[in-house]
Amino acid sequence: MTLGRFAPSPTGVLHLGNLRTALASWLSARKAGGDWLIRMEDVDGPRCRRDLGEAQLRDLAALGLESDGPVVWQSGRSEAYREALARLHRANRLYPCVCTRKDLQVLASAPHAEDGLRPYPGRCRTRDWEGFDRALRFHLPGGPVHWEDCILGLQVDAPEALTGDPLLFRRDGCFAYHLVVVVDDGAQGVTEVVRGADLRSVTATQIRLQEALGLLRPAYAHLGMVLAPDGGRLGKRAGAMGLEALAARGIPSAEILGWLGWSLGCLTQPEACIATDLIGAFHWDRVPRNEVRVPESWT
Ligand code: GLU
Repeated sequence: MTLGRFAPSPTGVLHLGNLRTALASWLSARKAGGDWLIRMEDVDGPRCRRDLGEAQLRDLAALGLESDGPVVWQSGRSEAYREALARLHRANRLYPCVCTRKDLQVLASAPHAEDGLRPYPGRCRTRDWEGFDRALRFHLPGGPVHWEDCILGLQVDAPEALTGDPLLFRRDGCFAYHLVVVVDDGAQGVTEVVRGADLRSVTATQIRLQEALGLLRPAYAHLGMVLAPDGGRLGKRAGAMGLEALAARGIPSAEILGWLGWSLGCLTQPEACIATDLIGAFHWDRVPRNEVRVPESWT
């Protein structure tokens, strides 16, 4: 059975890009007769706030998007992440890293990968094990990774050129994104990962980590980004506002859903609707690959 999920970081208000991702993953799961879960990625220390997460859940519910099971807050999953680290250590795939941000800036000689990502150059790979209380990196196996994206088609990536060995545990004691996302997609049995194209470049790395942990590979769909009306990044002014700010401008949820549904290829033109109206017409083949701009009149 299809199991989709939406995994926001509760560090702010869900903007139109986040809402579009949530809707696409929900529509795909519903169309397939499957379930859909919300998982709160609240592992990034003090930047993550429970109240912001609760507000995100309210916004999703206002659009008719509710988790089919209990919402998992990843801050309560430390035991599972520790176990995964222990497994990787037993398999000799973890090493301690003492590089500081500054070291990495100096070392970054490889051409910058897409999205401004610098691959970790592997300086600490040969360091002896010093225990689980150090910053820990995953020793990526070499070679290209192939995967089929529901929107982008066949992708071939060399993770060592994109992220390099990813950090899984940080010096400040936080479990890192790559670890928690892979462990929980596996633990929850997620079969479909829908997210923004800004995360396409980390997919091969996460696939390598899944393989090392013996987890099944979900399908991936990377959505074109939502941009400001002038083609720039969503900023505070242009569309980064959430449902509440849009409502204050006189734009109701039904209109936002209509625009999101149209941008996902479910409607021939943006018209007010509810989420369930969009299920029938949803199909990955109709989701455009390109970016989409927020209407000028909304900003
Ligand atoms: N928390 C990430 C975000 O808000 C999404 C992670 C994922 O879907 O893998 O962009």
